[in-house]
Amino acid sequence: MHYSDTDERLEQIKSLLGMLSSSGKKFDIEKIKDAFLYASDMHEGQFRNSGEPYIVHPIAVAEIVAALGLDTDSICAAFLHDTVEDCSEKTNLDIISKFFGQDVAMLVDGLTKLVDMNIEDKEEAQMENIRRMLLAMSKDIRVIFVKLCDRLHNMRTLDAKPEAKRRTTALETMHVYAPLAHRLGIQRIKQELENLALLYLDPIGYAEVTNHIEEKYGQNRDFISNVRKSVSDELERYNLKFTLEGRVKTVYSIYRKMYNQSKEFDEIYDFYALRIIVETELECYTALGIIHEMYKSMPGRFKDYISTPKPNMYQSLHTTVIGRAGIPFEVQIRTREMHHIAEYGIAAHWKYKSGAQSREEIDNKLEWISRLIDTENENLAPDDFMHSLKIDIFHDETFVFTPKGDVIALPQGSTLIDFAYAIHSQIGNRMVGAKINGMIAPIDRCPQNGEIVEIITSASSKGPSRDWMKIVKTGEARSKIRQWFKKEKRSENIIIGRSDIDREIARISKNTTESQRTEIIASVAKRVGMQEADDLCNAVGYGGMPISKILAKLKEEVLKVVKPEEEVKIVEVEEVKTVAPPSNGKYGGIIIDGERGCAFKFAKCCNPLPGDSIIGFITKGYGVSIHKRDCPNVITGMKSEEFFHRWIRAEWDLSEVKQGNTGIYEAVIQIFADNDISVIANITAALADMRVSILQINTRKQGDDDVVVSLKFTCKDIGHFNSVVSKLRNVPHVNNIVRGFN
Ligand code: MN
Repeated sequence: MHYSDTDERLEQIKSLLGMLSSSGKKFDIEKIKDAFLYASDMHEGQFRNSGEPYIVHPIAVAEIVAALGLDTDSICAAFLHDTVEDCSEKTNLDIISKFFGQDVAMLVDGLTKLVDMNIEDKEEAQMENIRRMLLAMSKDIRVIFVKLCDRLHNMRTLDAKPEAKRRTTALETMHVYAPLAHRLGIQRIKQELENLALLYLDPIGYAEVTNHIEEKYGQNRDFISNVRKSVSDELERYNLKFTLEGRVKTVYSIYRKMYNQSKEFDEIYDFYALRIIVETELECYTALGIIHEMYKSMPGRFKDYISTPKPNMYQSLHTTVIGRAGIPFEVQIRTREMHHIAEYGIAAHWKYKSGAQSREEIDNKLEWISRLIDTENENLAPDDFMHSLKIDIFHDETFVFTPKGDVIALPQGSTLIDFAYAIHSQIGNRMVGAKINGMIAPIDRCPQNGEIVEIITSASSKGPSRDWMKIVKTGEARSKIRQWFKKEKRSENIIIGRSDIDREIARISKNTTESQRTEIIASVAKRVGMQEADDLCNAVGYGGMPISKILAKLKEEVLKVVKPEEEVKIVEVEEVKTVAPPSNGKYGGIIIDGERGCAFKFAKCCNPLPGDSIIGFITKGYGVSIHKRDCPNVITGMKSEEFFHRWIRAEWDLSEVKQGNTGIYEAVIQIFADNDISVIANITAALADMRVSILQINTRKQGDDDVVVSLKFTCKDIGHFNSVVSKLRNVPHVNNIVRGFN
């Protein structure tokens, strides 16, 4: 690349370059310079609200990123973080990737996607979901680090923004970004974000606390470093191994104490605090003795949380003593182990439902990151360090927005149906469609992180489909669907359950009569604690009782009724082939991955018809098998890593279909009807009327009142199919028609 006036412009990042060269770590300085010059070209002519040239902002962010100890790519991403969004007419991710590599492009992409959220009026649980979603969306934790630096600089310069914007930005900083910085262990950034956010959210309270601090401690800025020095000298005299941490309480934390715990400023004794971390419990008491010898202790302020831990397992000795010039300060003494529990242990209390990772696991990972970023850890070469940050924190969860901006978290692989049921069972039960980011999407789609999901409901919806139970990912959705069927569809459940059980009985013996089967089912029902045969059929029908659970009992009961010599070995029924299987292009009508004339066959599980949305599966040996896109086998098969790459795009060649060059197709339906003598005759008459050939017809009685007719017939396409089905629905005594065998 060629840049103009490079030397002059590079002056702007002189202090950054100085910082990098004195860090002792290795950086790709040329790449960093290039990223700066490129960003500077892109933002040429753009200005911030303050009136400064825009490039001032990326430079400042890059400096904060570098000070955190992040790597070359993070610094480059900091320079480039606003280019793709703000200079879209000049650049894009592909260009960034070409110039600066895939990693930088990935970081910039992640940063571009982390849009501002409207979090006004959100409850804490929602805030927590938003924080977790941000972590999930930034596949690489460096995205969050750079984002925090970006946010920090924006907060430092928030004054220039319009009033309304200031408030929402500050609110978001307080509730989303500061807690994230805390969890990642970047205390300095967390504290500065909190203080700045407070300054805009409650300027009067902020000024009040600052005035108090000035009044009381204004003259003693180096108080705590002096205390540190004397305590350290004294502990060394006693040969203790220890770590000392000193801190000055921030404006925000004093504010919180005064307002949340309604304390007066004068009651806050831990403005200055010292923490002593030693090896053993005994040494804690030794150190306490030393402190009380050095300073006068304040009565009533000593707490022994070692002998009496707090309910959350917190252990420490707390005391408040009076230092030089009468200034009180708090001392906390604990072992390294107690320190660890104090910092991270509380996390163990937060558990999440829906099978996702527990808060504890998440915090363990975050804790590990914050340990890595600890500046004292000099052993790691920058590259190894950064590589280890590429972890997927919430790999097993998906976070989506509702149109109102709430975030819903569900296990990864959840479909739109799962999301509908997660909102409310009534939403799921009345769902007729869905939109993702405003576009209609099939309800079995799995939405991606950050997408806006809108569920379309209708009061006239007939309720969920039985297929949904095979599609949904979460047990919650499945059980809600099951509940619905249990309540709403008892008579249909009984028919379906009965046919399932009958089929199992037929596998055991073909020599049972209708009344014997009813007797068998009634006996099994009693054995599983149900009143009568219909109750069991109902339970099997709505899925509350998996048939596998009653197989053994069923077999025993069948063998009681059928004499052993009558037992018939089960033979797999051979498929009736009425239409020649299509092969080698002779029988066209399907375009596979853009190509005509491929060898394929139609899957028997779903019998796709022209007009159905379809997909191919590359079989071993006989070409591509064509399934309906919503076939349950496709939905489960797509999840299998082993088979995933064998799914292939397929579509109908509708012009061929129209000309009739493709032959005929098979359609399969089940008709639920009253057990009326006329019904079969009327169905076949209706089909003859429509010139539809019957390929196969089977009738089973269900109890005394109902029959199920399984019908296979010839069909031109999905439109033809729908018109056949709607005609059949008008046949007297037909109650319901379901596509497919099951
Ligand atoms: Mn920015």
